[in-house]
Amino acid sequence: MEKNGIVIGLECHIQLNTDSKLFCGCRTQAEEPNSSCCPICLGHPGSKPVLNAKALNYALQVALALNCEVNKEFFFSRKTYFYPDMSKDFQITQYEIPVGVKGHVALSNGKRIGITRVHLEEDPAALVHEAGLGASNFSLVDYNRSGIPLVEVVTEPDLSSPQEARDFLDQLTTILSYLKVYSPSSGTLKADCNVSVYGNARVEVKNVTGKRGVEKALEFEVARQKNLLLNEREVVRETRSFDEKSMTTKATRGKETEEDYGYIFEPDLTAIRLSTAEIKKMKQRLPELHAAKSKRFMQEFNLDEYTANVLARNFTLGLLFEEIAKQVEPMIAAKFLTRELMAVVNRSGLDLNALDLSADEIASLLSLLLDRRVTEKAAKEAIIAYLTKGEKPTQFIERQGLAMDLQERDIEKAVEKVLAENKKAVADLKTGNKKSLNFLVGQVMHLTKAKAEPRLVQKIIAEKIKG
Ligand code: ADP
Ligand code: ZN
Ligand code: MG
Repeated sequence: MEKNGIVIGLECHIQLNTDSKLFCGCRTQAEEPNSSCCPICLGHPGSKPVLNAKALNYALQVALALNCEVNKEFFFSRKTYFYPDMSKDFQITQYEIPVGVKGHVALSNGKRIGITRVHLEEDPAALVHEAGLGASNFSLVDYNRSGIPLVEVVTEPDLSSPQEARDFLDQLTTILSYLKVYSPSSGTLKADCNVSVYGNARVEVKNVTGKRGVEKALEFEVARQKNLLLNEREVVRETRSFDEKSMTTKATRGKETEEDYGYIFEPDLTAIRLSTAEIKKMKQRLPELHAAKSKRFMQEFNLDEYTANVLARNFTLGLLFEEIAKQVEPMIAAKFLTRELMAVVNRSGLDLNALDLSADEIASLLSLLLDRRVTEKAAKEAIIAYLTKGEKPTQFIERQGLAMDLQERDIEKAVEKVLAENKKAVADLKTGNKKSLNFLVGQVMHLTKAKAEPRLVQKIIAEKIKG
């Protein structure tokens, strides 16, 4: 590690998209505050947690997809802390033996980032500081969030810049969406961002929301720490918080040591035991993830790395591509999807997963384009109408009268036929006889049932004669 190198490690908390909470049957999606809670997620004395099997399964898949060693026996612990968002005064989490350890993930440039651990825990309640209530001296607590399953992914301090941290989170969320355990639109991602300048004290920016937030918090913190060192001042080891409005971090309480949490074994839940065979089976059942899919696209369809990556990054886009590639030249389909279609998606801020696009419809449009029955401009307009208004491309082309009657290629074929069958007229034309040109055009018009554009026919004949 170089002297002024940046050292970053992330502790990411991601909401798993189960229907019910981690230890009770309460729904994870609810509108009204405090409408989805029960004695268990409210932490009433005497209530007993029951582990949500689906959440456990999701966490196991995450650990395996991140190349972790899954522990054959693990259990839950109580992390004691006193704060209004946790009415039990402890959070059920994992400490000594988590679901998985020692994994790794590749960044988009191939650099490998170590995964220290993956564990399962419950989300605390949400504190609501309502500005509109006319009082700044109290907060409200919404227990709907209390007990939502979180998977925590802790990285080794292997990240060397805020951009790498962002890239890591992109890789991570892509893997989670591929596993279908996380919904970017409804689930939140938060991270504690640990950052230091090599050889100096580490700062932990707690509870930063979203990928962009993480990148911005780290950018600020890197600049702040470098500036301190430049002025021969010291970076103090501390916990800071990130303010999204000013994009700055500020010191909070002094960092708790691990002992402060007083972890104890959770006596209301049994230890989880898995056999080697069960773990192996789970690993085999994992879906193909984006890195593998991208490589396959490059080999199978001869796509360049960039295009293959764009297609594989988005699970829905990758699926759509493979379906369309069964019907249309894959290279053409790939270009159209990554350029035209994604341009519309990005420009209009659409969620591709929510659009429910038909591969057949897009394939039909591409076939029209390839047969030169529609212009590129018309195809673009059709895809815009499809994505933004849901109108089927073929319908759009029809309604707008955008289909060309006869394609150039067909005219060309007709010209070739007429020229071959009228050798004398061709010879005459070559000597400059204008009449024979009119004759030949007439023959082509006849053959194409007058659907060809005469001037285009003339042009094609002239080209053929010359060539
Ligand atoms: P704690 O649990 O007290 O937050 P850990 O030692 O478990 O501390 O590490 C938490 C995170 O801090 C990990 O993501 C790790 O990669 C990161 N980390 C460890 N050392 C450094 C460092 N020198 N600079 C930046 N991050 C670090
Ligand atoms: Zn509940
Ligand atoms: Mg920490």
